[in-house]
Amino acid sequence: MQAFHPKTLDEALAAAADGATPLAGGTDLMVEVNFGKRRPEMVVGLRRIAELREWERSRIGSGVTWRRVERDGPRAYAQAARTVGSPQIRNAATIGGNLGTASPAGDGHPFLAAVDASIEIASTSGRRLVPWYEFFTGPKQNALQPGELITAVVLPERLPERHEFGKVGVRNAMVISTVCCVVTRDTEGSTTVALGSVGPTPIRVPAAEEMISAEPSPSDSALGEFARLVSEGVRPITDHRSTEEYRRHAAGVLARRLLERCLA
Ligand SMILES: Cc1cc2nc3c(=O)[nH]c(=O)nc-3n(C[C@H](O)[C@H](O)[C@H](O)COP(=O)(O)OP(=O)(O)OC[C@H]3O[C@@H](n4cnc5c(N)ncnc54)[C@H](O)[C@@H]3O)c2cc1C
Repeated sequence: MQAFHPKTLDEALAAAADGATPLAGGTDLMVEVNFGKRRPEMVVGLRRIAELREWERSRIGSGVTWRRVERDGPRAYAQAARTVGSPQIRNAATIGGNLGTASPAGDGHPFLAAVDASIEIASTSGRRLVPWYEFFTGPKQNALQPGELITAVVLPERLPERHEFGKVGVRNAMVISTVCCVVTRDTEGSTTVALGSVGPTPIRVPAAEEMISAEPSPSDSALGEFARLVSEGVRPITDHRSTEEYRRHAAGVLARRLLERCLA
């Protein structure tokens, strides 16, 4: 495996156009290489490219690590960052790598879905901005075309006043999500709920959002109905980590708890 470590984005894009596989923190890619699942002939390292680490207001470079998001990010994104792997993983792993892998269990995805973020993608032909719901196309699949690199995540200029992340897993740390979720609520009551690990891609639950957004001060029964609609709206599977039934139940319970935190 040959490795090229450019200092500029243009050089990296040229290497990607020649077929080189992007390597950011390596916390997903090198696991696959070590297990023999991938054998790239050429990798293009992205860590020396300062432009990819830039963070200006709502535009966060793809080379920003989870450690930085944990420290400087908006509340729910920082809460999600805090749960990614261990401190060692968070110091190396990037938000761009999380999107590149596009795992249904990626902990960074629900925040992007909940706030309607876009993903900035570049190639030697130019840049394009892809809304989150077009970026994720299936389990570990995304809208990247050959030769393209993720350059940034673009959040809306104004985020909802309250937003909370939560994750259910088999233990409290170093765990892949059984369910992960972000709930947002603004001062007018407009609410979003986005979940991971309960469908092939991150998903929103419009029926639950519409119902609870119409409740200025939700009663206990409204909160119960919100949880029921979330459980009904997710599309989990049974796999080695959990059952479909448990994920469905946990999604409703978790979403309700996060909404209650937003309302507190
Ligand atoms: C022990 C351990 C624990 C983990 N825990 C969690 C967890 O709790 N939650 C979680 O969500 N993830 C977890 N992960 C997975 C991983 O750390 C994250 O997905 C991380 O964000 C990947 O980032 P990276 O920079 O290391 O990506 P890399 O491994 O460098 O790349 C991942 C993929 O994205 C591609 N890629 C990288 N950068 C770009 C780019 N700019 N443009 C286009 N493609 C790109 C690569 O080619 C590769 O296919 C864990 C991993 C390990 C090893």
